[in-house]
Amino acid sequence: MLRMRFLGGVRRIGASGILVDTGKHKILLDYGSYPSKKPDFPLPVSPYEVDAVVLTHAHIDHSGAIPLLYKGARGPILIATPLTLELSELLINDMIKISGNKLPFSKVEVNKMMQHALPVNYNEQVELFDGIRITLRNAGHIPGSASIELEVNGTKIWYTGDINLTDTRLINGAEIVRDADYVIIESTYANKDHPDREKEERRFYSTVKELVEDGYTVLIPAFAVGRSQEVMCILWHYGFDGKTALDGMAQTATSIFLSYPEYLRDFLELKHSAKHIKWMKSRSQRRKMLRRPGAVISPAGMFSGGWSEWYLRQIYNKEDAAIIFVSFQVPGTVGRKILDEKKVVLGGKVREVKARVEFFELSSHSGRTQLHQIISSLENPEKIFVVHGESDTAEKFAEEIYEMHGFDAIAPYQGDIAFLD
Ligand SMILES: [Zn+2]
Repeated sequence: MLRMRFLGGVRRIGASGILVDTGKHKILLDYGSYPSKKPDFPLPVSPYEVDAVVLTHAHIDHSGAIPLLYKGARGPILIATPLTLELSELLINDMIKISGNKLPFSKVEVNKMMQHALPVNYNEQVELFDGIRITLRNAGHIPGSASIELEVNGTKIWYTGDINLTDTRLINGAEIVRDADYVIIESTYANKDHPDREKEERRFYSTVKELVEDGYTVLIPAFAVGRSQEVMCILWHYGFDGKTALDGMAQTATSIFLSYPEYLRDFLELKHSAKHIKWMKSRSQRRKMLRRPGAVISPAGMFSGGWSEWYLRQIYNKEDAAIIFVSFQVPGTVGRKILDEKKVVLGGKVREVKARVEFFELSSHSGRTQLHQIISSLENPEKIFVVHGESDTAEKFAEEIYEMHGFDAIAPYQGDIAFLD
């Protein structure tokens, strides 16, 4: 009896979690949280029942609920790439800090989680239990990210996690597992294609370059893990020679990336760009940086905290400043309001943003055409489960998989159980 239960991250994005029950063992694929002020987790599981957790990548929406499994119980073993493990510890501890200890776990559980960690590199098969094998494959989403190939007594399940086929400056595009019997695929951008990557990189580079040459201070709010370093590498790669600065947790993440050269597409590119960029350490250094034209890369990517929020307060009302978004801005965030309305709420007052605002699409997820490319590469799957997308998008993608490729596909609801034999 092999079955899967969708605990979260279905018909929405956030709080991913899938429980695979082999009849003898229970294995969790991701266990994340929904990034909001009020913690929101997938359906609960008893930590006494789960034998192993396999984590695709460090983003909180995939990893942020794992510490719950170490409350009181001995806890399951945690499998991920060594880079994902280190980044997860950083991000979960930061989430605890930001929440002001409102989460149902603390650093104690995170430490316990790390004690149970089993680092596994890409393409290294691990026999977890009798007849149960796991292999992690490069998912091309952020450094260290993996898709999961899980074999249970000859039946193969492939969970894509967040997947990107495009090579980015930082990492190589994903590998596709063609011979799976069951596929669980993300659908974040199943309804749209991204602009051509190289063209978008060049457009981003020239915009930053021209603005800085024209005397602007350019603020680039970016996620600490992945996007900040991607932006650094783009600027370096195309030859940006203006003043640049890196701030906040993106510095720690950069140092971690640099200690895993084998997970990067071009280690030297990141190393050189990290050497060239100024690492902001003090408030006086930051003020000095803002006095002359230059570009600052800083988390949080949507201004939900971190140093980017501080920079925003300094520059929002300046006509010789620019805010350059490099990732999707979730509705309801400070970033989205700036992007849509050029307004920001500061000290309880709505204020007009005088700085120039631009947006670039440097996505780390596959777009529509690539998701279909993945499906058409599959040999003969029994069934495809569409997850990690807004409800309409996921449902439409499942319908298209059937209509265009002839494979049985559904977009499950939270709590749904799928019997696989
Ligand atoms: Zn992700």
